[in-house]
Amino acid sequence: MSHNLLNLTGSTEQDILELIELANSFKSGDLNEYRHENLFPDKKVASFFSEPSTRTKLSFEIAACNLGAKFLDFNIENSSIQKGETLEDTIEAMMLMGVDLCILRHPESVIHDLAKKFSSMQFINAGEGSVAHPSQALIDLMTIRESKEAFKDLKITIVGDLDHSRVVSSFLEAIQIVGFKSITFCGHPDLCKSYLDNPIGNFEPELETALQDADVIMALRIQNERLSEKLSISASDYVERYQININSLQVTSPEMILFHPGPVNFGIELHKEVAELENCKVKNQIFNGVGMRMAILTKLFSQA
Ligand code: ASP
Repeated sequence: MSHNLLNLTGSTEQDILELIELANSFKSGDLNEYRHENLFPDKKVASFFSEPSTRTKLSFEIAACNLGAKFLDFNIENSSIQKGETLEDTIEAMMLMGVDLCILRHPESVIHDLAKKFSSMQFINAGEGSVAHPSQALIDLMTIRESKEAFKDLKITIVGDLDHSRVVSSFLEAIQIVGFKSITFCGHPDLCKSYLDNPIGNFEPELETALQDADVIMALRIQNERLSEKLSISASDYVERYQININSLQVTSPEMILFHPGPVNFGIELHKEVAELENCKVKNQIFNGVGMRMAILTKLFSQA
């Protein structure tokens, strides 16, 4: 792993498998908790989130605390950004005050220039518009690995708002590194324009056809905050055609596993009843988020 985690470009299969192994090694004996290790008592980690977050931010905070690092939850709403200070000046101030690593979420791709300019501080990309969310992709691979032996045999179906999903972009980057058998994209064409004719996988308009052969299904939220135009499908038609529920899952194999990066809009892309299925790994993804983020911080601090 390099000095920063901005995306997964340049990562190898070995890098990813090592991160998964490290993340799992932090699990305590009963696998329901993470051990506390005072590995980095001198490190200061600051979050900088210009978009809302629950899982990503909290799991990085818990991960940093589990590793003995200090976590500074920077609140943009109460900061001098409200007095007109720029993002760049704010990040520089963080660096001058001794922050070692900044976890940044921003609607635009600002992280690359910041990481270049303030190279003595480390950066983790915790969400870059609809472009990248690399730690989520690593969590998803870690969670797949708990149920499936080999990535290269997997038939994967991704359903929902693909165009606006940074989770999909990073997942596709990651899965191409570790291997897969096939990928099927499914969703309303208004939300899948970049996936109707995409070299990585096939587009399938019918939900049941897309689900029937899948070993792994990833469901995605409609990213309403990124839509520039009103959808040409009503909410009820969307649910009718694209919702994953007990009915639509009837065509799937008993070994299929279902993912969603969260937050789930239950009643839209997923029916609440699927959350309790054994095949549904959404809670595992949340739990694994802490371990994978402990692994990412550990690797990055050992590169510093
Ligand atoms: N939590 C994920 C993200 O930040 C997915 C989502 O918001 O739908 O991209």
